[in-house]
Amino acid sequence: MSFSTPAALKLKADLAARFPGIIIQEYNRRKIAGSSSWSQHSWPNALDLFFTTAFDDSAAHQQMLDQVAKFIRDRYQHYDVRYLLWKNNEAHQGHIHVDFWPFGYGTPSLTRGGEDNRYYTKSGTIITQAQLEEGEDELAILSEAEQNELKDFLRFIREEGSSVGFVKYAIRLIRKERGLPLHAPVEIDLEDYEIIIQRKEV
Ligand SMILES: [Zn+2]
Repeated sequence: MSFSTPAALKLKADLAARFPGIIIQEYNRRKIAGSSSWSQHSWPNALDLFFTTAFDDSAAHQQMLDQVAKFIRDRYQHYDVRYLLWKNNEAHQGHIHVDFWPFGYGTPSLTRGGEDNRYYTKSGTIITQAQLEEGEDELAILSEAEQNELKDFLRFIREEGSSVGFVKYAIRLIRKERGLPLHAPVEIDLEDYEIIIQRKEV
C-alpha cells in the first residue's frame, strides 16, 4: 500500500523534524473548492500545513507559517515544488498548501495511491503509480533494451548517411505506435545527432 507521493513524503519528513508541532494533512480525494478540477490531495501529492487549525488567521499563527513558507521557498528545486499557496488567496490565510512535480493527472484512483493513478512529469511524459514509486528517470520512456535498439538503429542510419529529418520522423513513428504524446521530448544521445549533422555539412 502506498501513501503520499515520494516528493510529498520527503518534504513532510523534513518539516516534521524542523518545525515541532506542525500539523500536516495529506490525502483527501476531492475537487478544488469552487472548481471542477481535482485537488492534488487526491493523488495524494499535496500537503496542507498549519499549527493550530487550518483557519487560524491570528498574527502569531501567520508568523509561524511565514517561517515554514520561507523554508520551502528557499528549497523549491530541492523539493520539486510545483505550487506553494500561502496568503495568495482567501482560501490560504490559515494554512499553507504545497504540491509537487510530477503532478497527479487525469482522474485520481478511487483508492489512495492506487495503481491506476497517473502523473505528469516536468518533461511532459505521463508515468504510472509504480514508475513514480520506483523513482524511474522521468525521461526514460524506453526500457534499456529499447534504448539499445534505438542506438543500433541510429548507428545504422548514420552509416547510411540519412538525414536528421528522417530520424525525427522515425521517432515520431515509434512514439505514435506506442501511443505516446508526439510533442514530448525524447532522451536521445545527442552525440549521435551531432555526427549526423556534421556529415551533412561536409
Ligand atoms: Zn491543500
